[in-house]
Amino acid sequence: MSSTPVAVVTGANKGIGFAIVQALCKQFPGDVYLTARDPGRGQEAVAKLQQEGLQAFFHQLDIDDLQSIRALRDFLKEKYGGLNVLVNNAGIAFKVQDTTPFAVQAEVTLKTNFFGTRNVCTELLPLVKPYGRVVNVSSMVSSSALGGCSQPLQQKFRSDTITEEELVQLMNKFVEDTKKGVHNKEGWPNTAYGVSKIGVTVLSRIQARMLNEKRKGDHILLNACCPGWVRTDMAGPKATKSPDEGAETPVYLALLPSDADAPHGQFVSNKTVRPW
Ligand code: NAP
Repeated sequence: MSSTPVAVVTGANKGIGFAIVQALCKQFPGDVYLTARDPGRGQEAVAKLQQEGLQAFFHQLDIDDLQSIRALRDFLKEKYGGLNVLVNNAGIAFKVQDTTPFAVQAEVTLKTNFFGTRNVCTELLPLVKPYGRVVNVSSMVSSSALGGCSQPLQQKFRSDTITEEELVQLMNKFVEDTKKGVHNKEGWPNTAYGVSKIGVTVLSRIQARMLNEKRKGDHILLNACCPGWVRTDMAGPKATKSPDEGAETPVYLALLPSDADAPHGQFVSNKTVRPW
């Protein structure tokens, strides 16, 4: 088993995930895994880094597929006995002009952004080694979507005692409410992406709390962040930040020094903790 530190980035064949891997290849003292759901696109991205003189390793990971997540988990367990850095970056967003029915957009978006990310955490968090760093890429849209929720929903999402099971129930309820056409009446905003990212931010707050309760001595720091508005296939060419700039906050959180005890359980943008 290798004692080399290991970092894993999800959804890293392009966009912000690729830029995160690129930066980690330069700054992380260990093996960096570029993961992608499509092996062809993933290997191509690794080859692109190689041309720049950077070495990343490839492993397949489709966060929608539990078998794929578990295959990565087993690989990391066997080869490294765990992992040191996990960046949950993979995500999807329907374009504004997309005419797919809202209920379908809600189900598909939540499936990847919330449930897929949660499944990766469920399988990989127990493997994170002491002084490990976990970064869940959320969005400022989670904050604005929170503001668009009814007061009772806002209270639940801001609660310091909400459990993961309660959060999962709420995310499922949003999808069900969109199918019944009652999501507005039930206090939800009109953004499936926003609700999925509320899920990611609140999940991060819960997971950080659980780490405090169960693994306090392990000094693991886990945060949610917004990369900013970044020129990628998701956000388009008018966005203000380059992918390298978008990678800055996630990379900062992934490389928090071993003597740091904060931020932890926070929502961070531009390397600054934001109120939730
Ligand atoms: P992007 O260019 O569209 O890249 C998304 C990445 O996620 C791609 O590599 C994609 O793979 C991957 N992905 C999607 N579904 C996946 C799955 N089921 N399993 C594994 N990988 C999957 O988007 P981006 O702008 O870089 O976004 C990266 C993250 O930042 C997302 O979580 C996004 O919500 C967040 N974010 C972005 C912005 C922005 O302005 N761009 C702002 C706030 C937050 P394929 O190539 O195979 O599709």
